Parts: sequence; C-alpha cells; structure tokens
Amino acid sequence: MSMIVEKIPEKIRQYCKSIKKKDKSIGFVPTMGALHEGHLSLVKMSLAKCDETVVSIYVNPSQFGHGEDLNAYPRTLDNDLMLLEKMGISAVFVPGNEQMYKEDHMTSVEVSEITSVLCGKSRPVHFKGVTTVVMKLFNIINPDYAFFGEKDYQQAAVIKKMVQDLNIDVKIITGPIVRESDGLAMSSRNVKLNKKQRGQAPVLYKSLIEAEEMLMLGVSAVEVKQRIADKIKMQSEVLIDYLEIVDPVSLENKIDSKNGILVALAVFFGNTRLIDNILVNKIDNDRNQNEKAG
Ligand code: AMP
Repeated sequence: MSMIVEKIPEKIRQYCKSIKKKDKSIGFVPTMGALHEGHLSLVKMSLAKCDETVVSIYVNPSQFGHGEDLNAYPRTLDNDLMLLEKMGISAVFVPGNEQMYKEDHMTSVEVSEITSVLCGKSRPVHFKGVTTVVMKLFNIINPDYAFFGEKDYQQAAVIKKMVQDLNIDVKIITGPIVRESDGLAMSSRNVKLNKKQRGQAPVLYKSLIEAEEMLMLGVSAVEVKQRIADKIKMQSEVLIDYLEIVDPVSLENKIDSKNGILVALAVFFGNTRLIDNILVNKIDNDRNQNEKAG
C-alpha cells in the first residue's frame, strides 16, 4: 500500500483510528525533517516493533527561542518523503503552522525542574515548545509506542516525565546515537557547518570518549570538565554553551553512581549549535572501582 502524506490533523487522526480498529499497533516517530540515518534508525525500530509506523515532519516554531535558527533550519521535504516511502512506512503527518497553532491557541504543557538545566538553561522556552507539540502529536496520532533518539538525551527524559506525570497511554522507546564515520553525531544542523567547522566538529565525540575514560579511571568530574573544555577550546570558532557531568536521571550535578554518569555538551561552531552526550555505564564503572580496590 502506498504511503499516505497528510497535513490535516483530523484526517490523520481518522486514519490512525482506522488502524487501531483493526487491532494493529502504531509506532510514531516525531521529527523536524531534513532526515538522516539517525532519524531513519528510529523509523527502523518502529517498523520492527509495530504493525504500522507514522512519522511526523514539522519544524515546530514554539520550541525555537528569539534569535534561534527557526528560519534557517534545513527543510528537505521531497527528499524526506522519498526516503520514508522507500522504508515502507504507513503515513507521514506534515502539518503547517496554520494546522498546529490556530490564532487563538492558548494552551501549553510544561515539565519543571529537569527542563531548567543543560539545554533548558540556554534555551529557556525550548522544552515547553517541545512538550506542547509532542502532546498535541500524541493526541492526534494516539500511538502505542513513540521513538526518540538518545542524541537529544534531555528531550527524551522530559518526554518520559511528561508521559509518566500526565498518565499518557504511550510507551517511550529510545534509540542510540547514530554517528558519522568520524564520530560526529548525525544532526540536521551538520549541513550548516562550513568545511573548517565540519573538520573540527568531531572533537566533541573525541572529548566525550576521553571524558568517559577519565571518569572510569576515577578522575573527578571537575577535573574531567576542565580537561575536555580545554581540548574543545583548542579549535578556533568554537564557543562552549555548556559542558556538564550529571546524574542521568535527575540531570543534577549530584551524581548517584548507581544510575551511571551522563556527560552532555552543547557547543557552537560559528552560528551552529551542536549537542552530544555519552552515558558512562554504571557496570563498567563499578568494575573499574573493584579492579582498583583489588
Ligand atoms: P529532530 O528532527 O532533530 O527533532 O529529531 C527527531 C528525532 O530524531 C529525535 O528523537 C532525535 O533525538 C532523533 N535523532 C536526531 N539525530 C539523531 C542521531 N544522530 N541518532 C539518533 N537519533 C537522532
């Protein structure tokens, strides 16, 4: 059956309802388009787990702050649709702003606390925009499963919290970060990097790997942060937005090593802000501590 492309919320809702009536499960992958292998890895996960897969492509203005790159965000709809059609998904929801935010729109969904750190600190309206649009998308599609990438670690944590706190009937599944061969995390924004910046950007993943190694050896978080900040700053044209070592559950600096350790960063290369993270595994960490003790 050919892929449905729909921009009207009520129509895609009716389509999703018709799937549910047949007792089939729906997997949902929300995206902002300019699709790459990172997005497609989530689509593959959904295709493997669910009877039908619905993808949304919508550059949501409410998650961009003043002066951010809303207008410059890459848009490649025709290519996106071609990629998705090849993968054999059921439907793509491609609303416009006029469908998603009527002039008299007044309602938002906001998760507190974990949205005020990391990306939330430098992008204060971002997560409110994300949770509001994802809630709307969940209400329109009514998926059984929704798939999010670990590249946006904090986003996935915020969505899980929203689902838990508001008793939303959907299971959130996360997928690992997909990287270029030189380690740079795939991102729709990578095309914005000039040649020099693109050459420098793999320093982010290299730094995260080094941070992981140091943490496993028992180097303190303060020292690790200092050393990898120095390494990143050796590139020209970079500005570190944040570089944090936090508890992966609370996202606070106070680390409960049972949960492992999250090293997360956001760095500007010129005007392009890239994010990346690494979850330092609790088991390896424990083993390392034992080896040291032994
Ligand atoms: P975006 O279009 O940037 O809003 O991303 C849509 C979804 O794809 C989000 O759940 C992202 O976390 C996920 N995603 C983006 N880049 C990657 C990547 N390199 N690896 C895995 N997932 C990703």
